[in-house]
Amino acid sequence: MVRINPDKPSQAETTKPAELESVLAAQRTAFNQDTNPSWPSRKAKLETLRELILGHEAEFIKAISDDFGHRAVEDTLISEFLVIQGGISHALKHTPKWMKTRKAPTAMQYMPAKNIIIPQPLGVIGIISPWNYPLQLAIMPLIGAIGAGNRAMIKPSEYTPRMSQLLKEVLAKGFTNEDVFVATGGVDVASAFSALPFDHLVFTGSTSVGRIVGEAAGKNLVPVTLELGGKSPVIIDESANMKLTVPRIANGKLLNAGQTCVAPDYVLMPKANINAFSDAIIQQAEAFYPKVAGNPDYTTIIADSHYARLQDLLEDAENKGAKIRVAGDDDKQQLAKERRVPLTVVTDTTPDMKIMQEEIFGPLLPVVAAETLDDAMETVQKGDRPLALYWFGENKTKRDKVLRDSISGGVSVNETAWHVVQEDIPFGGVGPSGMGAYHGEHGFKSFSHMKGVFIQSKFSQGKNLFPPYTDKTRKMIGLMKKIL
Ligand code: NAD
Repeated sequence: MVRINPDKPSQAETTKPAELESVLAAQRTAFNQDTNPSWPSRKAKLETLRELILGHEAEFIKAISDDFGHRAVEDTLISEFLVIQGGISHALKHTPKWMKTRKAPTAMQYMPAKNIIIPQPLGVIGIISPWNYPLQLAIMPLIGAIGAGNRAMIKPSEYTPRMSQLLKEVLAKGFTNEDVFVATGGVDVASAFSALPFDHLVFTGSTSVGRIVGEAAGKNLVPVTLELGGKSPVIIDESANMKLTVPRIANGKLLNAGQTCVAPDYVLMPKANINAFSDAIIQQAEAFYPKVAGNPDYTTIIADSHYARLQDLLEDAENKGAKIRVAGDDDKQQLAKERRVPLTVVTDTTPDMKIMQEEIFGPLLPVVAAETLDDAMETVQKGDRPLALYWFGENKTKRDKVLRDSISGGVSVNETAWHVVQEDIPFGGVGPSGMGAYHGEHGFKSFSHMKGVFIQSKFSQGKNLFPPYTDKTRKMIGLMKKIL
């Protein structure tokens, strides 16, 4: 038994670096024997994946809850199982169309030649996933990888050892190591994993580790999809319907106790409205969770280190003059014992506070004054480009300005987080919140090589540009200049 994380219990298995290398070699050999798997074989794998994951729902719910300390059953059903089921159904329905060779236009000067694009699998995809939605964030990239005809190796987080071990055992029931392999272990295994010469590497996690993984992959010229984090702002316009706005923000912030990459990190709104909003969102949190301690609907903070990190953010903000309001009247010692944090609204913040600099990743909600939309946009622009941005309001002119002028991975309008589960739009970050995207066809394309093919015609006029160059060649160049 190897101790992986001081916050966490031991984990049964640790994958050795030599095994990682031999599995990658075996997957590559198997891939080379079938470089473009047929739709029936991809379909069978997607169906197997669906059966295995949905067929072990109760075990996954328990393993994830035990890894967290407590994870609300419904949080797991909504954010892991419904998302995976939606992703597989979408892939089963649309992959045959995405796989097809596509016709592409041919510019007039090259006619009557033809252009086509052939989507081809890349080979072996590496997937490194975080602890916060440990199943979904391992399986959603896997759906894209399998749909695109690849083989895959997964390294889940050391913070969820029970879920990782279960995933390894469950996937082994339907897949050989040459198809899908799950590596388990600590950061040392993750580090060795990220140094493997995959055909593509998908990393979901923090921006700081993303930099390390990007560097490791770069050494082998492995292309990466980096799904990272950051501070995702909410802008509340004066035109917003607060009856709809408050519960939607509270839900986005409190699902999984705020441990969500796209959770609203902080709110921007006119100063005069901050008190009323703070009252309303505290009341809303109390209506959602009348008690936090012992409440089966409320998820715990994953580990002591993360609990201490959140307490430190609050202490730092309070020491620098912030005002803090906590939802409910739970006993503080009991909350600490259970590692649960109620919604905590933080006002009168200043930019030097850690809570305004670091991704919060917990149920703490700074509410910051921004008198106008321009003020709010300026505050957002001063920070890193966020993974998500939320705008609440009914004023279409302002909405269009936000959509046109702000840069973020994705946006939900009059909602939080739901853009993530739309299979028909890309999900990914921009700048420090990530690079590349997946989900639906965007995942298929990320894990495929879209091979461009030019098919020359026997009637090609290209011979007019062959040497030796003569007046006829120069005339031809002149003619082409005119038509381009
Ligand atoms: P993390 O960066 O600490 O860990 C992510 C994964 O990286 C884990 O599997 C871990 O084992 C591995 N890892 C750690 N050190 C490594 C190293 N040196 N080399 C290679 N791999 C290494 O992130 P976390 O704490 O698990 O998750 C929280 C972060 O992930 C937050 O920042 C959150 O916003 C982000 N996140 C992003 C998305 C998204 O889709 N964009 C989704 C969920 C979480």
